[in-house]
Amino acid sequence: MKYSLINTSVTTIDSQKIWMIRDAEGNRYLQSDRPIKALKSENNDNIYLLSPENAKWLRSQIPWLNPQPLGLKTSVGTGDRLGISTSGHIRAFQGTQISPVLAQQSVRELIRTHRTAQMVLDDAMWGVFEAGWNRPWGADADHLKTIDDMKEYYDAGFTFFTIDPGEYVKNLNSLDNVTLRSLLNNIDYDLLATSESELINNYTHFPSSLDFITASEQDIKRAFIKYGGAIHHVQKMYSQLKSWMGNNPFDFEVSVDETDEPTTIFEHYFIACELKRLGIEWTSLAPRFVGKFEKGVDYQGNLHEFESEYRKHAAIQKYFGNYKISIHSGSDKFSIYKICAVNSEYKTHLKTAGTSYLEALRIIATVDPELFRKIYDLSMNRYEIDKASYYVSARPENLPKISSLPDDRLPDLLNQFDSRQVLHVCFGAVLDQYGKEILLDLNRNYDLYMDDLEKHLRKHLQDFIYSKPAEES
Ligand SMILES: [Zn+2]
Repeated sequence: MKYSLINTSVTTIDSQKIWMIRDAEGNRYLQSDRPIKALKSENNDNIYLLSPENAKWLRSQIPWLNPQPLGLKTSVGTGDRLGISTSGHIRAFQGTQISPVLAQQSVRELIRTHRTAQMVLDDAMWGVFEAGWNRPWGADADHLKTIDDMKEYYDAGFTFFTIDPGEYVKNLNSLDNVTLRSLLNNIDYDLLATSESELINNYTHFPSSLDFITASEQDIKRAFIKYGGAIHHVQKMYSQLKSWMGNNPFDFEVSVDETDEPTTIFEHYFIACELKRLGIEWTSLAPRFVGKFEKGVDYQGNLHEFESEYRKHAAIQKYFGNYKISIHSGSDKFSIYKICAVNSEYKTHLKTAGTSYLEALRIIATVDPELFRKIYDLSMNRYEIDKASYYVSARPENLPKISSLPDDRLPDLLNQFDSRQVLHVCFGAVLDQYGKEILLDLNRNYDLYMDDLEKHLRKHLQDFIYSKPAEES
């Protein structure tokens, strides 16, 4: 077997050299200059598999292979459903001040890809080793809904926990007047350890830098009913995590982005005040913004309205000073990045995810049209089922008939709104059926895939690269 050395991976542990190699099929292995007993080997050439045991040992020897909390640093989450994309992602971060969150997967994605939190972390770690990335990186346990969900990620060594209390957010607009009145008259103030008078008192006056916020007594009570249960749930998750973590620091995100209604300016202030009052130390908050944040396509909505609302969100963020604004479903939202970065003074976290998968399909469309046609057909068939848990609006009737497209036009489907969304949400079914073939193609065309990922992610990072405003003269 012929192997090629991956130059960026060469590392020294106690005067012993260790590196990564690739075979002709693109499969990666570890190799060392002298035998390392602690590593499990399949043959005699000091060659080792990228196994969970070997990952664990390597992490214990090389500190920078472990994820770390990133605090208020500008950060971007990459998310990688295939487990081989990290070193391409890292290339995009080189030379920027942005910290990568290289392992990032929600429970929903784990289920659909049949992966565990540990596998996600290990895959990201191999990419870190491969690229020789010795700067901090994060690992995000995304959209956690229960303590059980959280435990799996905690055990695997994640450092960033995104709590999604969406199920506890009450959609008041869907209620009739009688129900709403009854809720308003029976508020359980104990839920957040407060009282009616304390609550009203806390929100009657606002700091002078936030004089644009107004709230009537009715607004205050409505905010309590809408978010009280959610904040209580966040508090429960936080206390549990804190007791596991002890003195170890971690990133803690509160995300209310997957709710029916945008988070109003007052609601943002209310949530931050309550989190603070309850002693929760959070590093990022993901509001649900105005406009549409659909998967895999640019922001849809009025940009002036978005900017004027975002500035107010950012003013609240600045007033509290302890957290980043997190932008979810952040892939391909090119038209809003600059607005977010500048107004938040680069204290932002951007979550991108599924578009590395779309870039992988772009490679397949180019190098293996036959497989791509099968993937496309399967996605078309699955779309009605799989779209249920995603925010998308693609209409299959808008899609071109693939049978009438010549091979060289197939990559264009990755640029079209409807086909992007259809392909985006059906990854689970596609990976079940064609995962092995997809990985085989990508490994054989690894450099092409890495180049493409770097280019694609770099477009997302561009506006988050800090540049000092020009001095006024
Ligand atoms: Zn989200």
